[in-house]
Amino acid sequence: MNPATPASFSRTFSRSEIENRQSKILLGAHMSISGGVHIAIERARSIDCTAMQMFVKNNMQWFARPLTRDEVRAFVEHRQRAELLSIFAHANYLINLAATNPLFHANSIRALSKELASANQLELPFLVLHPGAHRGAGEEAALAKIIASINKVFRKIPKVKTKIALETTAGQGSCVGHRFEHLAHIIDNVREPERLCICLDTAHLFAAGYDIGTESGIRKTFREFDRKIGLDRLVAIHLNDSKTGRGSRVDRHEHIGKGKIGLVAFRFIMRDRRLNKIPKVLETPKGKDLREDVMNLQTLRALVLA
Ligand code: ZN
Ligand code: FE
Ligand code: FE
Repeated sequence: MNPATPASFSRTFSRSEIENRQSKILLGAHMSISGGVHIAIERARSIDCTAMQMFVKNNMQWFARPLTRDEVRAFVEHRQRAELLSIFAHANYLINLAATNPLFHANSIRALSKELASANQLELPFLVLHPGAHRGAGEEAALAKIIASINKVFRKIPKVKTKIALETTAGQGSCVGHRFEHLAHIIDNVREPERLCICLDTAHLFAAGYDIGTESGIRKTFREFDRKIGLDRLVAIHLNDSKTGRGSRVDRHEHIGKGKIGLVAFRFIMRDRRLNKIPKVLETPKGKDLREDVMNLQTLRALVLA
């Protein structure tokens, strides 16, 4: 055992206490929707996920045909749906609300509005979105453009209840959102801040330079998050280890415990009471049989008690 681990970490749990603690965890992974959106539910439940993230359409295309009524019904009324305590969406990676190319920008607004509407049909509470990349225009211009774009999207879809969860980024290339200040600035300046929330990503935080590799560092990072944005805005956490070093600004996900972050951060997140009700999902590399997910989830579940 790590000598720095507080004594309370090492106390032994009874079997029912273990099962109780582990069953309440909102833990899972991003799941493919290939074969239909409802199949994602089956994939997640086949490896005992209690939480799941999904795309609402093929991720590599700008637009897809709208979901049919049958598809929506197959998803919403799926007999296993209630076994997943949290299901939420992730937006298409092509969307860039800070795009300087007018066509890309117009496509981004339209695609995001459609994806929010689809997520709403599937009764998903939020859609995770990378804020955007400025492509040389500068951070300030990017943030202003993102704010105006979010206003525009929300104005187009006044009845949609699905919120946008802005995700912290690694700050790779010209991406903004790698400082809590960026996200706070967006929330403070949009017309309907109640429609925004936040998703943290451990690999992104680390690559962006936040010191989450030590117990004191991750405590400090959460304190800073609470001060600058507010823990009440936090709705999801992406649990990914990082292939790249702290402050590298390069986004490369790695299996839990196999990357540069170390298990301290994951143990903290799995155990902190304030994060109990926050769904946590993997976005780590995997094959069709989900073997890697099973391995990573096992590592994470063990940390609840470790
Ligand atoms: Zn993301
Ligand atoms: Fe992520
Ligand atoms: Fe990433």
